[in-house]
This record gives sequence, C-alpha cells and structure tokens, in this order.
Amino acid sequence: MKPKIPVGANTAPTQRPLADTRAPAEGDGVDTSPLVSDEVRQTTCYMCACRCGIDVHIADGKVRYIQGNKRHPVNRGVICGKGSAGIMQHYSPARLRKPLLRVGERGAGDFREIEWEEALSIATERLARIRATDPKRLAFFTGRDQSQSLTGWWAQQFGTPNFAAHGGFCSVNMAAAGLYTIGGSFWEFGEPDWDLAKYFMLFGVAEDHDSNPIKIGLGKLKARGAKIVAINPARSGYGAIADEWIGVRPGTDGLFILALVHELLKAGKVDLDYLVRYTNAHVLVIEEPGAPDDGLFLRDGEGRLLAWDKGAGRAADALAAGLNPALSGRVVANGRKCVPVFHLLAERYLGDAYSPEAVAETCGIPVSTIRRIAAELAHVAFEEAIELPVAWTDWAGRRHETMRGRPIAMHAMRGISAHSNGFHTCRSLHLLQVLLGTVDVPGGFRFKPPFPKPIPPGNKPAGKDGGKANTPLSCSPLGFVTAPEDLLIDAADAPIRIDKAYSWEAPLAAHGMMHMVIANAWRGDPYTIDTLFMYMANMAWNSSMNTAGTIAMLTDKHETGERKGEYKIPFIIYSDAYFSETVAYADLVLPDTTYLERHDCISLLDRPIGDADGPGDAIRHPVVERDRDVRPFQSVLLDLGSRLKLPGMVDEAGQPIYRDYADYIVSHERSPGIGPLAGFRGEDGKAFGRSAPNPKQLERYIANGGFWRHELDDDQRYYKMANRAYLDFAVEMGFLAKPEPIVFQLYSEPLQRFRLAARGHGAVQPPKSEAKRIETYFDPLPFWYAPFEEALIDASAFDLHALTQRPMHMYHSWGSQNAWLRQITSQNRLFMHRETAARLGLQDDDWAWIESPTGRVKGQVRLVDGVNPQTVWTWNAIGKRRGAWMLKDDARESGKGFLLNHAISEFLPPDASGRRYSNSDPVTGQAAWFDLRVRVTKCAAAETGFTEPQFPTLRPPPHMPPAPAVSTFGESFRRWREARG
Ligand code: SF4
Repeated sequence: MKPKIPVGANTAPTQRPLADTRAPAEGDGVDTSPLVSDEVRQTTCYMCACRCGIDVHIADGKVRYIQGNKRHPVNRGVICGKGSAGIMQHYSPARLRKPLLRVGERGAGDFREIEWEEALSIATERLARIRATDPKRLAFFTGRDQSQSLTGWWAQQFGTPNFAAHGGFCSVNMAAAGLYTIGGSFWEFGEPDWDLAKYFMLFGVAEDHDSNPIKIGLGKLKARGAKIVAINPARSGYGAIADEWIGVRPGTDGLFILALVHELLKAGKVDLDYLVRYTNAHVLVIEEPGAPDDGLFLRDGEGRLLAWDKGAGRAADALAAGLNPALSGRVVANGRKCVPVFHLLAERYLGDAYSPEAVAETCGIPVSTIRRIAAELAHVAFEEAIELPVAWTDWAGRRHETMRGRPIAMHAMRGISAHSNGFHTCRSLHLLQVLLGTVDVPGGFRFKPPFPKPIPPGNKPAGKDGGKANTPLSCSPLGFVTAPEDLLIDAADAPIRIDKAYSWEAPLAAHGMMHMVIANAWRGDPYTIDTLFMYMANMAWNSSMNTAGTIAMLTDKHETGERKGEYKIPFIIYSDAYFSETVAYADLVLPDTTYLERHDCISLLDRPIGDADGPGDAIRHPVVERDRDVRPFQSVLLDLGSRLKLPGMVDEAGQPIYRDYADYIVSHERSPGIGPLAGFRGEDGKAFGRSAPNPKQLERYIANGGFWRHELDDDQRYYKMANRAYLDFAVEMGFLAKPEPIVFQLYSEPLQRFRLAARGHGAVQPPKSEAKRIETYFDPLPFWYAPFEEALIDASAFDLHALTQRPMHMYHSWGSQNAWLRQITSQNRLFMHRETAARLGLQDDDWAWIESPTGRVKGQVRLVDGVNPQTVWTWNAIGKRRGAWMLKDDARESGKGFLLNHAISEFLPPDASGRRYSNSDPVTGQAAWFDLRVRVTKCAAAETGFTEPQFPTLRPPPHMPPAPAVSTFGESFRRWREARG
C-alpha cells in the first residue's frame, strides 16, 4: 500500500492569512481587514461548474472565509457570491451523515443507517450479479460532476453501455455542433478573445455558463468600449450590461443567424481567403441524385478530398498549398457531376427564406435591426481587422509574417441549445463565425487546448453488442458517430442503450440522454433494467422533466404477474452529499463529501481549466477534515470497482490497484505517459504532458495553488487548427494523434451519410418509419425549422413560450438550500412583459396558473420590461419540495417557489402516426427544455398565496440534526477572534 496523504498535508508554505494590516478606520469604526484565519489552503471552487481557484481560510480547523485565488488562471482572484457562500454549503444542515438503506416504501423516507461495509457489500453483490449476466441492466448516470473521465472509464470496465453524465439535458447541441463543425465549442472548449475583440455577440446565455470568466471578460470589453450585443428572450444578468439587447422569440435564434448569413453573403462580406485555407468551402460535393455517394465529397484514389483547380481546369487535392480553387460553379470532375460546398451554401442562404423580411416576424426582430447587425459585423470584420506582428508557420510550411484577426467574438450556451432545433442552430452560429473568418484569430473566438480536436473526435461509442457478461467494453460508452454503421442498435433496429442514445431516434447523442432514463426504464422500453445508479443528479425534482410523473415512475410497482408488488425500477443506488429530493427514492444511499473534503481532478481528459493561451488543469484536495461518516464518491467508485474485480482496478492478485481517488489521480495512465493530470509529471515533477507518473504530483499541485498551466509560445496562440507549432505541441501532449490540419466542416459529410441511408443506400438503413425524419434533420448544411412542440400543439391555445434560467447567485439545486444565498432569492417569480400582463388581466404579485399540455404549476407574477412579450420565464431550481434539504416547513422555497419542470413533458405529443418521440433534438437527443409552450391565467382568490402542485412532506433520514432556526456562524467566528485577543 502506498502512504496516505493526510488531510491538510499542504506541504507548501501556506498563504499568509488575512491579518490586521491596518487599524480600524477611525471615522466609522469598521475594520475592513480583520484577522480571519490561522491558515489558508488553496483548492478549486465547486459552487458552480466554472472551477475558480479559491483561498480557503481555516480557523480552529473550520472554514472561516473563502476568497478568490489571485494567481489562478480561471478567476484571477475574482470570487462570486456563490463561491464565497461555499461555507454555508459545507456546513449545510442538509449534509448526509451515513450510508442509508431503505426499510419502508420507496419515497416514504424510511431508512436505517448502515455501515459502509454493509453498503458496499449490498452494492457489490447486486452489481456483480448484473455484470455476470447482462451488464447493460446497470444504468449508471451522473449529474454535473467533474469526474467523467473516471466515471466513463468505470462504466467501460464494468461493461455497460448505459452511461452518461448531464450533457444530454444541458448543452450537448452546443458541444456536438461545435465538435462536428469546428472541432471545439464554447466554454470549456474555447473562449472569446477578451483582450482584442471589438464586437461581442452573446446568444442565450444565463449567468452560469460560464460565470466569473465571462464577468471578467465582459469587464475587459466594457473597459475597451467594445460593443456587446445580447440575444436572449429575457434581458437578465449579462444582457443588462449589453449595449444592445435583442429579445428574440425562443427557438428562432437559428433563423436570425441565418438571416445575418444571408445579408453577409449578399454584400460579399465573407472571408474567402480564410474559407479556402481552413474550411471545406471549396471541396467538391458529388451531385448525382440517386447515386449511393450523392452528396458525399469527391475524393481521389488515395482518399484525398478534391477541389476544382481554376488554373489547371481540373480536380486537385483540396489541401494542396497554393491551390486556386473554385468556390462556385457546377463542374464535371473525374467523370462526376460536382459542386463546391460554398456554392451550395450560397444557394441556400441567399434564398428568400432567409431574407430579413421573411424571418423578422417569426424572430420578433425588426428587418432594420437584422440588416444593421449584419452591417456592423461586416464593418468590424473587414474595416477594423487587426494584425498582430507575430510570425507563424502553417501546417503546410507556409510562413506568415503576421497574425490577422477579424475582431468579432461570440459566445452561446444552453439558451440556443436546449431546443429541438438546437443542433442546427448551433451549427448555424459556427457557420456565421467561420464565414466571417473569426475562429481562432486575434479578436475572435479562440480554442482552449486540448481543442481543436479532429472533426469529429475519433472515438466511437462502445457497446454495439450490448455488453457481454464479465467483459469490459472496447472503449468508452460515449463517442462520436460518423455513419449509420456506428449506431448502437440491434438487428431489429432497436436501441441498445436504455436512453436510446445513438439509435435512429438520436443518432449523434454524444452525451447520452439522461432525461429519458427513468421513463424508458419504467416502461421497459427498449428493455427493463435491474439497477439505476445515479450520482449528483436530482432526478426526482429539478433535473427531470414531468417531475410528478417521474416520482410516480420511481415508486411504481408491477400489479400483476411474477413480479407483482416489485418496483418497476427494481433497485436504485444514489450518491449525493445532501438530503436532496432524490434521496427518498433510493434503496441504497452512499453519502458523498462536500467539495472541501475530497480530492478531485479537473482533467485535460475531461473538461479542463485551460485558456486559449495555454492548457491547464486543477485539483481539489481536502482542506478540512470530514466530521461525518461519508466518503468521496470517486473513491467509493474505485472501491466498488476493486470489489467487482474490474480490469484496471485490481492487479493480477485481485488486489486494489488504487488506494483511493487521490492515488488514482496520481498513478493512473489512460495511455502510456498520459494521466489524469498533465502537470508536474515525471519522477522529478519537472515534466508535463506525456511523461511518467510522479508520486508527489498532488503535493506539487497544492504547492502551486491547486493548478497547473502551461503558457503557449506567441506563435502558437492563434490559428491552432492549422498552426504547425501548435499542432506539433498538441501531438507531443497527446491532444492529437497527428500534426494534421483540422478543416472546419461547413458541410457535414457524416450527416449526409445518414441522409443517404434514409434514401436506401448503405448497409445500415433506418426503418421506414424513421426514414423521413432522418432525411429531414440530417441535412449536411445547417437550416432552421420550428421547434417540435410548437409545431405539434395548438400554439394559439398555449400562446406563450416559457423558459427557465439560473440566477447568477445559484447553481442547479445546490444554491437554494444555502443559508446565505437563500437570503438573495427564496422565491422565484414568473417574469412577464407588462403588455402581456395587461392583455391577460394580471398585475404585479398576482398568483397565476402556468399551464402546458402536460400539466400546470402555480406561481406569483412579476412584471418586467426586459422580456420578449411572447415569453414568460423564471429562475430554475429555487422551488423545492417541502421537507427536503432540511428546509423548515414554512420555507418560501417550498411554499411559494415553484418548479416549471412540472409543466414540461419528456415526450412530445403524438405525431400523425401516433408515435411519441422524446422531447429532444432529433440529431443529438438534447433535452428540449426551452420548447415549452404555456398559457397563463389568473388564479381564483382562494388559490392564491401558495404554490401547486404540492407533494407529501419529505421526512429527513434518521439522526439528521434539526436545522437551526438562525445561522450562528458569525457568532462562533467572533468567539474565535476574542480568544485571539
Ligand atoms: S464562478 Fe463558480 S466556480 Fe467561480 S467562484 Fe463563483 S461559484 Fe465558484
């Protein structure tokens, strides 16, 4: 066994605690720099997903104060309200204390505390039986955790294809559209060039995607006078400081973007030189309807893409240096009728359907605004281009004396993503960026290493055979499909996965479809499972659509047959740090630690913390001792893995390879020399990237403030998709297999392959019932269509769009149990435009029913000006179930706060054939949260004052101490100071 790293073994000189560096101000007597701690320990925040570095001040062994780490690359010392309120998260009365075993009916909250050994034995016995018979009967799904490279590997070694994290119900459209178009996307994949951008477009972003980094960036833009345009149905947060707010109608962003493309093409304001160098704009597409390769690229005998060489008058290698390719005109090349990609896209987007006049009313944006924004984009891109005096060499060996930039940056996240037309909308946005020549150039959008990746990344989803007994999968369950042959379907076209990801229903479901797991498992469609194993996913409340229905499914039993009286989802294991709404529905509860009590790894193998100027990663480590019988989930998972004798987790003698997660972080190698952390590798800790493990790696990270970062050379910082110096570096680091250019895919051949299958070509074809849907939505060029729900229901009866956003000061369901954050918002309101309210006879503070075709929920109205008049919206995850999270019975969160999820269905209304598809994007399976349509009506007088629906009050697990009526945190702090004199 290796020696254990004790809690608090911060071998680095600890940061100097904040101390009395000046006397209290004489005038007001306020001491602005009081002594607050004995010691400072540096780790990574987890109050949202941004991964800021924090300095945790410890006094008397307790957390006293949290501030931003000034050296940390993510936040540079900035801390937000959530981050500093992490203290209340850590000391939350809702923290679970010990493993729990259900002893009463599921949902009743009857548990008995058990020892870890019993808990792990129960889980091991059950999981071993599943693995030895049919591993896919384990469905393992996690929420917004940051250890997906571990959890995915665990699922792979277990042998179940039924694994995914939260991406499918968050922003997979954004991620997948980016990875299938430019090899990267926003947030963890890339960022605006905050220092050089002159024009910034922010599409559909709530304040958490992402948080501090965007705030810092917006501050830089404001300081330099760059124009910020926010496109969002609701003017909240970031939109409030924008120079222009465009209150687009939900689900029509793609139409607006393509109208901008229309205008730019019409004006000839696209960067043709950039297109030819870095995209497939000039590549020839075979245009022979009926042929099996119609719509695919023309290639030579060695598989090279071909373009039409204008000088030579023949087809030539599209990547050849010095080629002068045709971008328009139909030709016959190598005996085939062909047309360049750019010709096809110009034909489409110059068409009347995308003219400002055609889209204005649908988008709710005046024609003049669309034209003006297009003109502003053209002006900044082409009249205000910038040139950095930095010489660089491209992949083909061509030297460039400068780096040219078109200083327009964009950022988008869930707002445009969480629609059933989100994939094509997100691809449209990347198309706009690329046409303007703004991707990875000075002033534009910039990739964060390890991105860009090959388009799409090379790993395919594993589990085509459904998983074999006692056998690992060949690779990770999640990956990137490029053709129908890659789908996870059986011979009868039935989905292999419980969530139906990678089936004909959602072929490019790169992050899985967590929102469908419970509904499918309950219905036994496509099959029944044995165990649902979830981590950090509040699926019995704010992470599920149709929450009341989901609760019913979790507790539903067979009424007849052999299994009469048994639950339809036989066994549920759940790991959470808190008494969330989902705990009551678990059979076995594995209590997790808080983020200040455990090791974590924010890895380049997952979603790292790097920035565009250099890769980086980070850790968490225990900065305080655990005071309850809880264990870090990741260590528990490794323990379970070794008990199950999973390959890679036990040695030849069957003994655990990893002592715990900390040991795994340091010792594990995904491939030779590539481990979870890239920094301080090699025996002396001086190497990084691909190198031998360093047993003292965690100490080195701790000494460095909890992170590692490598600064790129000046000539590696831009044009990463084609920059020789960067590509060579990426290969050395293991980011890329070869130093080859990454060619942006304006036209997507993988999508066309699905189209061809729908037209009856190829070995794997969709069933007749799916062919039309595949043909329609697997268009190789982005297009816009109306979101499914509004197209399938009587939109006049449900005349309003309804959205949720997360507030700046809360994240998922974590925040609204936090004593300090609750003081900011303890009740969410339904925000509504004044004119809309007047039409509906509603006034400020009125109680109203918000009703969809699925269900209704009741909340209190707040009138505002900054919202699209056809839209109402509210903060997500404020409303809590009565009794959960140790909130008092009279908590506003459960008495008046409401959860819009009750009105959202996980299934679409029946189509003409009666079939009900999931409420998802047809390409990626992304949950279409924001397609919701509602009508709002005033409540009767007797119905006011409280939210509905209400559910039976949840009972806390045994031995949970009652929550204090008043937080006395400050009082104990005063006592500590007094003791210090
Ligand atoms: S932005 Fe997120 S990670 Fe950063 S300090 Fe705030 S809560 Fe923590």
